[in-house]
Amino acid sequence: MSKVIDGKAIANQIRHTIKEEVSALKTQHSLVPGLCVILVGDDPASKIYVRNKERACKEVGINSTVIRMDEQVAEKELLDTIERLNQDDNVHGILVQLPLPRHINKDAVINAIHPAKDVDGFHPINSGMLMAGQAEFEPCTPKGIIRLIEETDESIAGKRAVVIGRSNIVGKPVAIMLLQRHATITIAHSRTRNLAEIARTADILVVAIGKPQFVDASFIKEGAIVIDVGITRVNGSLMGDVKFEEVEKKAGYITPVPGGVGPMTITMLLENTLIAAKRNI
Ligand code: NAP
Repeated sequence: MSKVIDGKAIANQIRHTIKEEVSALKTQHSLVPGLCVILVGDDPASKIYVRNKERACKEVGINSTVIRMDEQVAEKELLDTIERLNQDDNVHGILVQLPLPRHINKDAVINAIHPAKDVDGFHPINSGMLMAGQAEFEPCTPKGIIRLIEETDESIAGKRAVVIGRSNIVGKPVAIMLLQRHATITIAHSRTRNLAEIARTADILVVAIGKPQFVDASFIKEGAIVIDVGITRVNGSLMGDVKFEEVEKKAGYITPVPGGVGPMTITMLLENTLIAAKRNI
């Protein structure tokens, strides 16, 4: 039976520290960290994510504003808004909630955010800095995943890590971050052959594919650390990519869904906003 990594509890501890640091910034430097989230359209899941981000900011004393734009908004208007926020000294972090409507070029939007305010860590300059081992803003979900692994008694160095999924926001960066911590990494994806066999070599298995219950016990090496990043809403409840009940019996550690990676992602966003604000001291 594995130990369940309680992402919610770990996130709460980190949020407590962030709250204290935010409070100290206010008293010592009259500086209130500010995050601006831009939400385009009416995607129900995005609305929930944005609401959770607003709530989390409030909880730790970060000033949060949400700019809501119509689904049909012109790309130019969105880019102009980002430019205005780039110039606004009260805004330390800018986040554009993804996905964006099809008529908007996602890359142009990400590239428009000033790298110093890119608290999601998606700007190519920040991705490049991550690659070079000089990141100031590590992307939130991978950063949260690393913290969760660090909470186990196991060290990352020397371990064999398999990451299933190669997206720019989860799979690729988390693989690089594991490599920087001296794991030996394999990145798998939809064209990978013998996936379960490769996954079974992993001391650390990160699953970020978005296919509910895809990974079963046959993918798991006895005692492995299993991080389930997937979130899919099925009949009103959230499901991970891993069959928790059967994998839990074989893994050493496992994250639940919900209550694993999700709370850490938002917490790392708060932390990155604090880092961005502190640059203004
Ligand atoms: P994505 O951009 O859709 O990427 C999915 C990746 O999974 C792709 O690389 C894809 O391979 C791979 N894949 C798909 N089907 C596969 C299969 N059958 N076998 C092996 N690989 C397969 O997704 P994402 O943005 O990385 O997100 C992944 C999941 O994590 C989603 O459920 C998302 O909601 C969740 N997520 C959670 C958090 C959180 O805070 N908990 C944050 C971000 C994302 P190809 O590249 O070959 O297509």
